[in-house]
Amino acid sequence: MSKSYVVVAEVRDGKLRQVTLEALQAVSLVKEDSDCVTAVILGHQITDIAEQLSQYLNGQVYVYDHIDLKTYNAEIHFTIIKDVLNTLNPHAIYLGHTAVGRELAPMIAAYLEAGQLSDVISIEKSGAEILYTRPLYAGKAFEIKKFTDAPQVVTIRPNNIAAADTVELHAQIISMAFTQASSLRSVVQDVIRKTSGKVDLTEAKIVVSGGRGVKSIDGFKPLQELADVLNGAVGASRGACDAGYCEYALQIGQTGKVVTPEIYIACGISGAIQHLAGMSQSRIIIAINKDPEAPIFKLADYGIVGDLFVVVPLLTEEFKKALA
Ligand code: FAD
Repeated sequence: MSKSYVVVAEVRDGKLRQVTLEALQAVSLVKEDSDCVTAVILGHQITDIAEQLSQYLNGQVYVYDHIDLKTYNAEIHFTIIKDVLNTLNPHAIYLGHTAVGRELAPMIAAYLEAGQLSDVISIEKSGAEILYTRPLYAGKAFEIKKFTDAPQVVTIRPNNIAAADTVELHAQIISMAFTQASSLRSVVQDVIRKTSGKVDLTEAKIVVSGGRGVKSIDGFKPLQELADVLNGAVGASRGACDAGYCEYALQIGQTGKVVTPEIYIACGISGAIQHLAGMSQSRIIIAINKDPEAPIFKLADYGIVGDLFVVVPLLTEEFKKALA
């Protein structure tokens, strides 16, 4: 019997989030040809985004487009998703392991009395079994799990599973009616963005991170310039955040964000275990530190012993030339 899969899509700043395409790819790794995939997208004035999304799956896209959905509100989103679940009775629901996904997934799992696997970084088929890998203890160990039952709820860590490719036969777009829940217990009054970066930190392919060695707010400017040239994002250690050199929204580590970019450039960061917890899974790690004994060099693929205020502008210049 064919099964139904649901992917909860995410829109941010008027764009489809990359992790949604990664969640679609995750579904394509586990589903059979006869199974049906439905992407659910919620927002305001999202016709173009829904159209774009439809190019990545051969199934259906449920579109909820309403002014009240302009800003994410867990209560409203969950009310809608419950309706979708009741209609489709899915075998599995996939979400990004983002702030939104981390909030909605347990609500969905509790509602369906389903098993949940969070922060999945890879999926493998082994015979009839589907094996999900997820990091433990801040990336110091990994566990491989499988579901023994359905429904199943899965969140996918950004930047680990390749994004889905466009498909030949696009999904059918279905406009869904939205009637707002009558008695909301909370409403979003305002959203204040603390970071101005052009690229989302958790989804960036290249992250240029600064630590206490950056020494001041102005010290982050050369890092931002390098990140801009590479179309990357700027991150930070807690040392830099605590010192007031940057916003806590940039903090990477055990108590900050977890990033897994293609390239992580750590500038003036010593490499404390709590920092490594947020970036050790990066594909290539480059460390710039003037102390040759800094622990970050033990993890780094490439190390530059030197003053970051000399090295970073040189890198920026060289990349500018190379990418011109
Ligand atoms: P430092 O350790 O002070 O290192 C600064 C580095 O800059 C040094 O290695 C120095 O050689 C180098 N340097 C100085 N000047 C230059 C220069 N001009 N050029 C090149 N290099 C230079 N930390 C996190 O990052 N993220 C977390 O999520 C986190 N969570 C924590 C949770 C708990 C419960 C605790 C106890 C700690 C946590 N920490 C976290 C803090 C962590 O232990 C470290 O204190 C912190 O990561 C240190 O930041 P840093 O590397 O920027 O600073």
